[in-house]
Amino acid sequence: MLLIHPPVSIPCEPPPGLARLAGILEQAGAAYRIVDANLEGILFLLRKGIPGALDTWTKRARNHREEHLIRLRSRTACINFDAYKRSVVDLNRLLARPAASRGFRLTFTDFEDPHLSPLRSTDLIEAAERPENNPFYPYFQERLPALLKATAPSLVGFSLNYLSQALCTFAMIGCLRKIDSRLPIVLGGGLVTSWMSRPGWQDPFSGLVHHLVAGPGEAPLLALCGRSVPEGEHGPAYGHFPLGEYLSPGPVLPYSGSRGCWWRRCAFCPERAEGNPYQPLRPDTALSEIRELARLTAPALIHFTDNAISPALLEALAKEPPPAPWYGFARITRHLLDAGFCASLKRAGCTMLKLGVESGDQQVLDDLRKGIKIADAAVVLKNLQGAGIASYVYLLFGTPPESYTEARRTLDFTIAQADRIDFLNIAIFNLPAQSPERASLDTDPFYEGDLGLYRNFRHPRGWNRRMVRSFLEREFKIHPAIARILRRDPPYFSSNHAPFFAGRLNLPALGRP
Ligand code: SF4
Repeated sequence: MLLIHPPVSIPCEPPPGLARLAGILEQAGAAYRIVDANLEGILFLLRKGIPGALDTWTKRARNHREEHLIRLRSRTACINFDAYKRSVVDLNRLLARPAASRGFRLTFTDFEDPHLSPLRSTDLIEAAERPENNPFYPYFQERLPALLKATAPSLVGFSLNYLSQALCTFAMIGCLRKIDSRLPIVLGGGLVTSWMSRPGWQDPFSGLVHHLVAGPGEAPLLALCGRSVPEGEHGPAYGHFPLGEYLSPGPVLPYSGSRGCWWRRCAFCPERAEGNPYQPLRPDTALSEIRELARLTAPALIHFTDNAISPALLEALAKEPPPAPWYGFARITRHLLDAGFCASLKRAGCTMLKLGVESGDQQVLDDLRKGIKIADAAVVLKNLQGAGIASYVYLLFGTPPESYTEARRTLDFTIAQADRIDFLNIAIFNLPAQSPERASLDTDPFYEGDLGLYRNFRHPRGWNRRMVRSFLEREFKIHPAIARILRRDPPYFSSNHAPFFAGRLNLPALGRP
């Protein structure tokens, strides 16, 4: 079988879901090939270009393209942040500008078509019917026939996780069907799981996609090949991914010690609304898998992709450090309130922790059932700073319990903690269409498309999106202490590259010269 990771998502590391699937397929003895069409497609467009007029800046970016690519993939990127930023912005320009001249919005992180919406099944079907309109078409046209010839797959599976991948996925499906209309197509991944967990879901893609898969894909894929999932634990496999080609200042090994979330209590959380179970690996199993993967891939950095690394895994990592620096999401728990424990995490290679603080107002946190005390968040930030671990703090504005007063408290909290916060992510709340809490809100009949995952709602305290956006732009982001933090964020690659600039990575340990 042929498994494809379609454009567009950040091309900084291999997709962890497909790597885990690959590990299981290998153990089951299934013949498979994985193609990271996102990375390949982006590199194709950077090297061969999209037809279109180039302005002076874009021509200059093209002339320095190889130099920028080398810099982005080398540890020297970590030494000079300004040079790194120039390379990222120039390469993104080279990707975006020619596409923009045809009306598309294409960046390292996103893809938008002016005429088609990934929220409407009819538009996705149209993307499949007219793949030649997609800016990646020259890549699809060159790569797909050669791949089919080389692998002669019994089926082609797509892993569709983000909205930014949807239109390109269907354009690829359209290309494949033009080459061989009988080839079975399987579509799975996080976005497909969200679509299929909607009440009253009916498959709009029959005739185009043969099998839609919700949740883990291994059992349905193996069943299609007449096999079953082998007994026991199955670690991910990265042998099919070109680790040296990703755009990061050293090879990054994504790894997940669990599926789902160990907390699963936050209001409005899609994980909870979709009823995804929490399935952790035993910490000793996770550690031995990481050691083996690190031996095979020599990563510069390990990226824990868990929704939140469990306290049990954090303890295990502190006791038995993995062989490379690491980072990931953690919840504010009593463990991190212990300065000694934070110091042991640092000794174990923890370079950055991402923390969902969300609000500086305790009542908002309680109403959202975050299970954290804002006073504890301040202590954790102090402990992490003391230990030399960078913090990437996530804030969420416009939630139903928030008003301007509470948003101001978040501003005050952020200013008070500014010297301890290394990086900041600021988001505006979207109401997941399926969250049980939706029933208590006055939702709009607004129709964004049959595949839309969010609903408009009338904010119970009148704190609507326009007001939130204005507060963020006119008060929050321009505060000098906050603006200073925001300027540190790596453009486009954001938290994926931030650990490389945490100033605490051991540079000689990076994998490439
Ligand atoms: S910690 Fe994150 S994933 Fe877990 S329940 Fe809360 S919002 Fe959801």
